[in-house]
Amino acid sequence: MSESHHHEVIVLGAGVSGIYQIKRLVDLGLDAIVLEADEDLGGTWYRNRYPGCRFDSESYTYGYSFSRELLDEWHWKERFSSQPENLRYLNFVVDKFDLRRHMRFDARVEAMRWDEDRRNWQLDLATGEVYTARFVITGIGVLSAPALPRYEGMEEFEGDAFHTYWWPKEPVPLAGRRVGVLGTGATGIQVIAEIADEVGELFVFQRRPNWSTPLGNSPISEEEMADIRSRYDEIFASCATTHGGFDHPPEQRRFWDVTPDERRALWDELYATPGFAIMARNFPDIFFDEAANREMSEYVASRIRERVRDPAVAEKLIPKDHGFATQRLPLETHYYEAYNRDNVHLVDLSETPIERFTPRGIQTTAAHYDLDLIVYATGFDAVTGAWDRIDIRGAGGVALGDKWRDGPSTWLGLMTHGFPNLLMVAGPQSVSGSTNFPRAIEGGVDWVTGFLEHVTSRGITRFEARQEAEKEWCEEVIAAQERMLLRRSRGWFTGYNANVAGHDGGRVRYLAYWGGAPRYNERIRRVADEGYPGVELR
Ligand code: NAP
Repeated sequence: MSESHHHEVIVLGAGVSGIYQIKRLVDLGLDAIVLEADEDLGGTWYRNRYPGCRFDSESYTYGYSFSRELLDEWHWKERFSSQPENLRYLNFVVDKFDLRRHMRFDARVEAMRWDEDRRNWQLDLATGEVYTARFVITGIGVLSAPALPRYEGMEEFEGDAFHTYWWPKEPVPLAGRRVGVLGTGATGIQVIAEIADEVGELFVFQRRPNWSTPLGNSPISEEEMADIRSRYDEIFASCATTHGGFDHPPEQRRFWDVTPDERRALWDELYATPGFAIMARNFPDIFFDEAANREMSEYVASRIRERVRDPAVAEKLIPKDHGFATQRLPLETHYYEAYNRDNVHLVDLSETPIERFTPRGIQTTAAHYDLDLIVYATGFDAVTGAWDRIDIRGAGGVALGDKWRDGPSTWLGLMTHGFPNLLMVAGPQSVSGSTNFPRAIEGGVDWVTGFLEHVTSRGITRFEARQEAEKEWCEEVIAAQERMLLRRSRGWFTGYNANVAGHDGGRVRYLAYWGGAPRYNERIRRVADEGYPGVELR
């Protein structure tokens, strides 16, 4: 027998978005609950337990800004805080505001159906339970649907094997073992550098290299934390004015207005500056102008050559198919130095592709690699993957998966036409995928909360994004992406994924808004001030 539960608002996901969203709804006095598929809260920071997993946003720009008390109480121990500490932080927030009692765990939603007569959503859980809600808000993440490769014989491998997203809670023995890592994105780069000196032998199976620059992590002392606390207003204000939501104000000079020596001097400084300064404080031209990007890429290549002793290995680690920062830039800690170790071996799959997995390891066209452990750092079915895993049926029974088959279509990344009373935090085509995530989600949650206040205080029981307004937003999203050099990259930014059916053909998807956080925030603020002209309210 299935049980039925009704709430005015259901939030999906108890990650960074869902935690802040439920706080705002509880404060508003709405009857709201969070349904979380996992057995506990934290989302990304609950799941990704692989060695080396940490922020690449400065910790103090990643934390929530909504409570002065919280800012005063929490001490970030490192400039780029690690996963265990980040999970502790989220638990601290939830406990401080007593939010856990509004959360239900092990509550995976498998299907959602819009009921036009009742004007509510019916949600079917994997447990067999049924929930209904007038409004649903999704906080299901942009990188929460891990994707495995599709090699013959994978299931025959007799050693340990898992995706980094599913890295076990129990300690994984590494000492003396022969470990293979597939993938050299942000995750692979973190895990490889972290385990290189711990494992027996490490084989990195690299399909394509990524550009990567130093993270520059360091501890934060009591005194430094006190200084950060005194400057929080200034820090968040600075984040709010920058394109990517970081505390790194952009370079004002144009690339071509300065000499190559002056450019080199700036890049030397930025290469030594922690975090995303090398993107955010760089000449904006490198993102749009091919020649400017080429010069920047040559500069970063020269730094890789300086750091990797074997010139042949260095060349394999330098991307040749895409320019600097045209895919998501991973930040690293001694990543390149890992290849100077005798126990670390780069297997270049572009020269010797994998033929198949065997019970003992991996067979490429050149050799067989005996392995005890295989780590899949192969990324995610990004942005829309988490949506595709729920069977969502809107007005008239239309499936969201059908509507979004060739890519998402939204109004401001907040709603999608045909799916009434459904709101998205950090949704596709917002700035969540393109900026410092929590800075973007706070803006999204605040907007959603303001909108629900507007709706519920007026007795409105149905809302839906207007088709025309959605079309206009999609055109803006496309235009912003088409201006950038990243439009041609084959990574998750453009929806490419060789491991996901339908995403492997090279069709470009418009998953995020690249016009910058300030412009986006100004835009959503304006529609709220104007009484939500893009939405039909009934
Ligand atoms: P990713 O950037 O998509 O990288 C996946 C890697 O796996 C790529 O190197 C890819 O090669 C490789 N790969 C995929 N299929 C393969 C196959 N069949 N055989 C061999 N190699 C294969 O994924 P990710 O590294 O997990 O990062 C995803 C995003 O998560 C990041 O961009 C970032 O936004 C976020 N992240 C953030 C942090 C942080 O510091 N806060 C850390 C980790 C991740 P190709 O390039 O050839 O496709």
